[in-house]
Amino acid sequence: MTLEEIKALDRQYIMPTYSRFPVAVDHGQGATVWDVEGKEYIDFTSGIGVNSLGYNHPLWTRAVSEQAAKLGHICNLFYSEPYVRAAERLCSRSGICNVFFANSGAESNEGMIKLARKYSFDRYGKGRGTVITLNKSFHGRTITTLAATGQEVFHNYFYPFTEGFRYADANDLDSVEEVAGHDVCAVMVELVQGEGGVLPLDQEFVRKLAQLCQKRDWLLLVDEVQTGIGRTGTLFAFQQYGIQPDAVSFAKGVAGGLPFGGVMAGEKCRDVFTAGTHGTTFGGNPVSAAAACQVLDLLDDDFLQGVREKGSYLREQIEGMDLPCLGETRGLGMMIGVEVRGERTNRELAEKLVENGLLILTAGQGLRLLPPLVITREEMDRGLAIMRETLGALT
Ligand SMILES: *Cc1c(COP(=O)(O)O)cnc(C)c1O
Repeated sequence: MTLEEIKALDRQYIMPTYSRFPVAVDHGQGATVWDVEGKEYIDFTSGIGVNSLGYNHPLWTRAVSEQAAKLGHICNLFYSEPYVRAAERLCSRSGICNVFFANSGAESNEGMIKLARKYSFDRYGKGRGTVITLNKSFHGRTITTLAATGQEVFHNYFYPFTEGFRYADANDLDSVEEVAGHDVCAVMVELVQGEGGVLPLDQEFVRKLAQLCQKRDWLLLVDEVQTGIGRTGTLFAFQQYGIQPDAVSFAKGVAGGLPFGGVMAGEKCRDVFTAGTHGTTFGGNPVSAAAACQVLDLLDDDFLQGVREKGSYLREQIEGMDLPCLGETRGLGMMIGVEVRGERTNRELAEKLVENGLLILTAGQGLRLLPPLVITREEMDRGLAIMRETLGALT
């Protein structure tokens, strides 16, 4: 089908929840994709931080097709090998005790909120179910995770929202203390706020927050849906913050392109979920789990070192462009935000870049780069050249 044919069917049959770029992607290789008309694009998006191994990685494709041929699904009332292998890899490399597998970020966060509320209920009974989250956070699109999201624009239309969330300012411990109370069971944060604009939390704030949580027996919940699985240059971002969270959620990049995610529990809450208290039909799906094992096996120390180096390279190159429409860069590893200055919006800049062959994202007021972790130097340089030429030509 041509782009126009696809657009016509989309317009007729798909609910218009996305403002899409006018490109229909057909296939990819590495960090390069081609649209249905054969035009080539460098990918600085990985879906949205999902295709960590890029497109058609030979090991990923093999792991997925072999598992699909063997066992595509079995319900959670039976054991199977792929999900325990994935769990062993995640836990042994993060100092976390156990995991519940889900299918998406929002669902993983729902699990994490349930875990925190039940932990508190088991110890203290009712009335201690409030979770403090941060302004500019993003935790998902279900009714509860929308309520958890600390951005007013998301608290619309879908009333009534789940109660039990209060919002504090990032990097401001006083603000957390101000909204605290006897009804609080947990604090939930992204260590680098992704959708909010690629805003890393301060090391000192996070360490003090962890101490405060410890003191009050609040669980420290870290949403690593975007920052996790190598994106920031360590397996999890919390490993660069010198803290050990009580629970960690992950999704996006974990299975390199298939729906997968979950919530991991530390010592304090390893026994909170018991038979019948949580579950999901697709969670721990064998094909997704086999893909996750392959992703995790490739993300060894050398690979993660490479992620940190590529992230620094991209940021240096972008800052070196010295373009009037771009300001500072920020982020961690290969999760990079670029400030946008001047008349044009981030969306307008992104549209021009896509038109010229570079897939890129926006976040907050800026541009956001989440390239496949396997992107080569040559692909980075081609993407950077498109940025330099496209944005340099703007008046
Ligand atoms: C994307 C994202 C989510 C939601 O994940 P879905 O898979 O879209 O449900 C939650 N939290 C963070 C930090 C995210 O970046």
